[in-house]
Amino acid sequence: LWTQVLDRLEKKLSQPTFETWIKTAKAIDLQDNCLILETPNFFARNWLQANYINIIKTTIEDILGHSVTLKITVANQENSSENSSPFWSSNPAIPKTYTYPKPTELNPKYVFEHFVVGSNNRMAHAASLAVAESPGRENPLSFNPLFLYGGVGLGKTHLMQAIGHYRLKIRSDAKVFYVSTEKFTNDLITAIRQDSRQGFRDHYRTADVLLVDDIQFIEGQESTQEEFFHTFNTLHEAGKQVVLASDRPPSQMPQLQERLCSRFSMGLVADIQPPDLETRMAILQKKAEYENLDLPQAVIEYIATNYTSNIRELEGALIRTVAYMSISGLSMTVENIAPVLNPPAAHAEVSADVIIAVVAEEFQVTPEDLKGSSRRREISQARQVGMYLMRQYTDLSLPKIGEEFGGKDHTTVMYSCDKVGQRREQDPDLSKVLRQLGDRITLVSRSQ
Ligand code: ADP
Ligand code: MG
Repeated sequence: LWTQVLDRLEKKLSQPTFETWIKTAKAIDLQDNCLILETPNFFARNWLQANYINIIKTTIEDILGHSVTLKITVANQENSSENSSPFWSSNPAIPKTYTYPKPTELNPKYVFEHFVVGSNNRMAHAASLAVAESPGRENPLSFNPLFLYGGVGLGKTHLMQAIGHYRLKIRSDAKVFYVSTEKFTNDLITAIRQDSRQGFRDHYRTADVLLVDDIQFIEGQESTQEEFFHTFNTLHEAGKQVVLASDRPPSQMPQLQERLCSRFSMGLVADIQPPDLETRMAILQKKAEYENLDLPQAVIEYIATNYTSNIRELEGALIRTVAYMSISGLSMTVENIAPVLNPPAAHAEVSADVIIAVVAEEFQVTPEDLKGSSRRREISQARQVGMYLMRQYTDLSLPKIGEEFGGKDHTTVMYSCDKVGQRREQDPDLSKVLRQLGDRITLVSRSQ
């Protein structure tokens, strides 16, 4: 077996690496799927452990077809196990070797079964499921990478981890790595400090499915971008799946290297929007179900109406309500929970009038212009933006929004929303204006 492993490793590694580190090791025992390797000294052991254990392990597993554990010992040492004092401790000239990044555990709650599908996340959900079923090269639609984006608390992390869970359910031996961009960066810094970029690379490049969360934080981090670029390419070329989550699309990450931006966009970019009232209620209901809570419909509706823009806050409100009610012994009624929840003013009801006023001011037209039928370019553009924002910030239906704009047809409203939504993705300036308008709308609503 070891000769076979050596043959394969020789092809995978550079010659000096192979000669120095691998060839000097001997396989001395294989028992209960545990292979014991013997190295000539502590330094070699630590170096192997830090840099090559994964590649050795996967090579053995490829040959045997099942998973093995690997123990690396030192020759002629009585106490050569883990707790023996490492070589460097008696020789300060030799740097500490690379410590393996610990994998992040998946949150057991973040599974597809707990995820409520609504019009706000349908595409992102379908794509995630597709990728989980057939990742990387297996995916006929090449959703690789899958890039999910959306505001805070809208379910990006949940979906990503659901992909991981599902993958592991189908193939328990799949190497699913979930990592935040922050951890990726920290691991890289640690590796550089320990003078072992290679160990870092070997580690991340063994992934079958690499899930990287909050990738927006990579902006401006040059060395992380550099390293991630290579990790990405290696995995992509090997037909492995990459999934990324961000609070905005790649096109709106100005400090992202061009080459990364184009790679992030080459699979599928799918957005998650804030959920509508119906979806928010369904989320609360589902949550209540698996937490075994008995909630009156009116209470669900009350919470869902008052927490509109962030599902984490929506869930938080539910938990607070339940906790308070169980402590106080009061019954679950809207009258009882309202004072406890005291929804933040930021979630104040946004009225159609506020949106129309704010948009009119921004585009220097009048509210009457927006409600009228002029097709002047400035006016019709402002009108489209107004309809889009009204769709986002209120629960009004398409026909109702049409009415607010002086009786426009609901298909016109739909067309406007789609158009602005599409342009928003391609046009950073528009996207910025929309964000500012959104902030102003919230601010004005709050002060009313
Ligand atoms: P993000 O990563 O986008 O900031 P999370 O994935 O952390 O958001 O989601 C925040 C919370 O909302 C989590 O507890 C998650 O389970 C829940 N959540 C988000 N979207 C849904 C959904 N569609 N159905 C059920 N729960 C959801
Ligand atoms: Mg998240």
